Amino acid sequence: MATIDEDAMLETLERWLASDVVPNVIELEHADRYPREMVEQMREFGLFAATIPEEYGGLGLPASAYVRIVEAISRAWMSLTGVINTHLMVAELVRRYGTDDQRAHFLPRLAAAELRGGLALTEPDCGTDLQAVRTTATRAATTATDGVYVLRGTKMWITNAHEGNCLAVLVKTDADAEPRHSGMSLFIVPKDLGYTVPRKLGKLGYKGVDTCEVVFDDVVVPEDHLLGGVEGRGFHQAVGALELGRINIAARGVGVADAALRASLRYAQERHTMGRPIVEHQAIALKLADMACRVEASRLLVQRAAGAFDRGERCDLEAGMAKLVASEAALENATEAMRIHGAYGYSTEDHVERYYRDAPLLCIGEGTNEIQRITIAKQLVSRSNAT
Ligand SMILES: Cc1cc2nc3c(=O)[nH]c(=O)nc-3n(C[C@H](O)[C@H](O)[C@H](O)COP(=O)(O)OP(=O)(O)OC[C@H]3O[C@@H](n4cnc5c(N)ncnc54)[C@H](O)[C@@H]3O)c2cc1C
Repeated sequence: MATIDEDAMLETLERWLASDVVPNVIELEHADRYPREMVEQMREFGLFAATIPEEYGGLGLPASAYVRIVEAISRAWMSLTGVINTHLMVAELVRRYGTDDQRAHFLPRLAAAELRGGLALTEPDCGTDLQAVRTTATRAATTATDGVYVLRGTKMWITNAHEGNCLAVLVKTDADAEPRHSGMSLFIVPKDLGYTVPRKLGKLGYKGVDTCEVVFDDVVVPEDHLLGGVEGRGFHQAVGALELGRINIAARGVGVADAALRASLRYAQERHTMGRPIVEHQAIALKLADMACRVEASRLLVQRAAGAFDRGERCDLEAGMAKLVASEAALENATEAMRIHGAYGYSTEDHVERYYRDAPLLCIGEGTNEIQRITIAKQLVSRSNAT
């Protein structure tokens, strides 16, 4: 049970975001510079340990508290949440599916940010169809009872791969297995075992945080780094962790949608045309009303999904709905904010154009919105047949 005062933590965080992040984000973001000092401050706040259980040195926050943190950070600068999101997904993978030894070894190091995690699922030729991954892990015996795995392949679009130092890597341990997922496994691979990061990828938005290509060129990994100690479970483990990932993305969507709303509400009262503030033109007022409804509806869906996650319930339907609605809300609100701001919305000296560049990622990452719709529909059918 978390002993931390969530409201006090959020207040401290909000003060820091207002004083240190918002005034600097435009310059840092356009330079696409890694926000090292901000990341260090996030470490001091304990954010790298946010959802890791207290017995392993974490803060033990429930998802319902974590999403409030993600929303607040995303209102200021969405990229900062990228630094902790997949890190905490790696921790969640280890907590849920790891052996006792893996939990004892990795979780305290992840909580202390001595290990900084990333999730390596996507490859150059596959993202949605994860069962098509080509990276392989081949077991080689070192003694009659012990062995190692040799990892070979390339991962693409891996956030935190350059600045972080530990990846959860989805591989094929049996490339010929049918069904395909039964031949898949996840490994926890610290960087010092030898994977390389040849390049950071250029992006429309979500700048500052590193997203990279990663190469495994016969990287030798001890067999006790196989998550859960048994081959063939990797696909289900990855899908399980994506529930938390989707809730996180949804919370980012609420943050971006709300930032766009707040900026627009302020501007619409300051900017005058035809002798009155533009908020008094009905065309603008209607936009603001729709933007506010999208924010509130998304926030409620996120809280519902986080609540289900905290109760240990299967929540792919709830997480999928929250992710779909909140990410589309971010995109629509960012577009409307640009219209309301007129030319200033298009200016690189203002925040609004960044929302417009950041929001589309939310419709792609952690399962595209097309796939969310398919998942939601499948769940609707299966739940209706179960009742
Ligand atoms: C900035 C950024 C950061 C990222 N960070 C990470 C990370 O840290 N780790 C990681 O593993 N990945 C990461 N990704 C990758 C991301 O998860 C994938 O881009 C995403 O899963 C989609 O895969 P794809 O790009 O290969 O698209 P594809 O799978 O090729 O899909 C292309 C299009 O086809 C549609 N489509 C595909 N299959 C179906 C279907 N069955 N039915 C209907 N429509 C379908 C998709 O919705 C999409 O519109 C990141 C991506 C970006 C842009």
